[in-house]
Amino acid sequence: MADYQYNRVLLKLSGEALMGSGDFGIDGEVLGRLAEQIREVHDDGIELGIVVGGGNIFRGMSEAANGMDRAQADYMGMLATVQNALALQDAFEHAGIDTRVMSAIEMRAICETYIRRRAVRHMEKGRVVIFAAGTGNPYFTTDTAAALRACEINADCLMKATKVDGIYDKDPVTNPDAVRFDQISYREVLMRGLRVMDATATALCQENHMPIIVFDIEQPHVFRDALSGEPVGTTVIE
Ligand code: UDP
Repeated sequence: MADYQYNRVLLKLSGEALMGSGDFGIDGEVLGRLAEQIREVHDDGIELGIVVGGGNIFRGMSEAANGMDRAQADYMGMLATVQNALALQDAFEHAGIDTRVMSAIEMRAICETYIRRRAVRHMEKGRVVIFAAGTGNPYFTTDTAAALRACEINADCLMKATKVDGIYDKDPVTNPDAVRFDQISYREVLMRGLRVMDATATALCQENHMPIIVFDIEQPHVFRDALSGEPVGTTVIE
């Protein structure tokens, strides 16, 4: 069993991370690989909460730009995160991981409603908790929901799974000379306008001394390695 540096973790999974090489929706193989990564650390007793995004299905801002009322579009975005949460729960249960979905907006027929103490209790009992519907409020993002839930459940760190292996000084996809940071401060992230998480989420982590680890979820065993304190991706701290 690995020697872990963090015991309770909040993992932020963007909708994009679920869509694999496609440009919309959910890729079953990606879900399967993800479930394996989660199972590896879950079996070792790591307590895990997950905030899932919805950008692979619906993004409020984009629809608002096309003329839809912003709050209305954001509620649709939040519903998209619930779809992803249910897909994740299904994949996790197939991998033998006990999982609960808790939504910030009440949907009693399909999942539990988020209650902080109940979420913590689930994790203590070894259940992975998937937080759906973001913060439950329009004009926010699931990054902010992740920062908020990480603080609320007293997570040791917030891990942000992306398709890139850390934070770069410029977009590594379009700039081959981009340099990756091993470690960077919240202040520098905000000052340089690095788009690792939105500013609200970064500021919330900064105020509450919540470390953020950004890593590429597609690398084998990366989640276990990151939790063991091995140098994986980029860490954002004081
Ligand atoms: N959303 C919201 N409030 C929240 C979280 C999410 O209104 O607290 C909406 C918003 O429209 C957003 C969509 O849900 O565009 C999907 O979330 P997000 O874009 O953060 O997903 P990701 O980029 O992580 O896939």
